[in-house]
Amino acid sequence: MPRISRLDALKYHEKNRPGKIEVVPTKPHNTQYDLSLAYTPGVAQPCIEIEKEPDNVYKYTAKGNLVAVISNGTAVLGLGDIGPEAGKPVMEGKGLLFKIFADVDVFDIEVNEKKPQKFIEVVKAISPTFGGINLEDIKAPECFEIEAALKKELKIPVFHDDQHGTAIISAAGLLNALELNGKSIEDIKVVICGAGAAAISCTRLYVSLGVNSENVVMCDSKGVLNEGRTDLNPYKQEFVTKRKVNTLEEAMKGADVFLGLSVGGLVSKKMIKSMAKDPIVFAMANPNPEISFENATAARSDVIMATGRSDYPNQINNVLGFPFIFRGALDVRATQINEEMKIAAAKALAGLAKEYVPEIVARAYNKQNIVFGRDYIIPKPLDPRLIITVSTAVAKAAMDTGVAQNPIKNWTAYKQELSN
Ligand code: NAP
Ligand code: MG
Repeated sequence: MPRISRLDALKYHEKNRPGKIEVVPTKPHNTQYDLSLAYTPGVAQPCIEIEKEPDNVYKYTAKGNLVAVISNGTAVLGLGDIGPEAGKPVMEGKGLLFKIFADVDVFDIEVNEKKPQKFIEVVKAISPTFGGINLEDIKAPECFEIEAALKKELKIPVFHDDQHGTAIISAAGLLNALELNGKSIEDIKVVICGAGAAAISCTRLYVSLGVNSENVVMCDSKGVLNEGRTDLNPYKQEFVTKRKVNTLEEAMKGADVFLGLSVGGLVSKKMIKSMAKDPIVFAMANPNPEISFENATAARSDVIMATGRSDYPNQINNVLGFPFIFRGALDVRATQINEEMKIAAAKALAGLAKEYVPEIVARAYNKQNIVFGRDYIIPKPLDPRLIITVSTAVAKAAMDTGVAQNPIKNWTAYKQELSN
């Protein structure tokens, strides 16, 4: 892939009509008759039916396939609190990805509000428009309070992708890495560098998957979250260790897994060398990982390494998750995306990486032979099997846990529909 220059990126966004998305009508609109159906007087009929039975909004409007990508611009990419307007290109980009990967329509909504309570009120007030809410690039710890409140109040899926998308994709990689090196999830010692949106959510999901929370050591910018710390918010307090360790370097000694969700360049070769046999290193800070692929693999030949980057093996990329997770949730009209649905998505991704990789995927990445192993522990984003694999797993988990209001009756027909 050619290097992305500043000018190319700006030109791409500016040319033709500025931005990356538009609204396109889905019904005939060429005649006077068509317009009378689309708008008055015809449009009054669905309005009346929806007033009589609110569920009919799914039958007569775009709600069921429409997701709000909502941000206040307080934690945009690695750029920080750049504000709602400056975050808009990212939200539009997310809309583009939802559409091309899973045919989910998106309205991107940029909200000029930082206070959690007010932000929650805004999202609640506009929620009737949408079949689901993707919270995006909202800073920690406010993002936890915002998501928890909206999940409680709304009967549609609410999903903060920076938290759970990362958790699901990295969990898939972790399950496969553990399978490759023959370690059991209950026994592994895990060091988490970072205690923000992604780190907290990843750790929670790993614990749901079987990691013993007593084997977790988490660090923030001030060091290890241990019993000596008096400055911790409630989310960090969840992961205070009883071990007497203070620094990342001490924590890394003998660890089986390092998970980096902090900032680039924090980890030295020496720290990687101090880890247990067959270490797993997911250095996911973007754009520069906590330790580079080159340095980690030079330090240890037995390492299984993943980063957030597309130019190295094992990219932990949220696009493997959110389009298909929402696809499955919307298709069964799930009232939420619960823990079981997230775990189902992670396991589906892990399973897919172990299957034979079709020629079309190898060609998209210009690679001869992609096979399950230390350089291929998670599927590639351009794998056309993702939609069926992940969406059906999520839909099924929603049905199994009783949150699907519109269960799928014919799986063969559903899979056929997804592959079209
Ligand atoms: P965040 O909420 O701002 O959290 C960042 C965390 O890093 C904070 O807890 C911060 O500590 C900690 N930190 C900063 N400097 C540190 C240091 N020197 N030592 C240890 N911890 C340090 O951000 P986020 O959304 O969770 O994202 C974190 C990173 O992960 C970013 O680089 C992001 O690009 C990356 N990420 C990658 C993926 C992916 O690859 N798919 C997905 C999501 C996020 P304090 O709490 O003390 O400030
Ligand atoms: Mg994001």
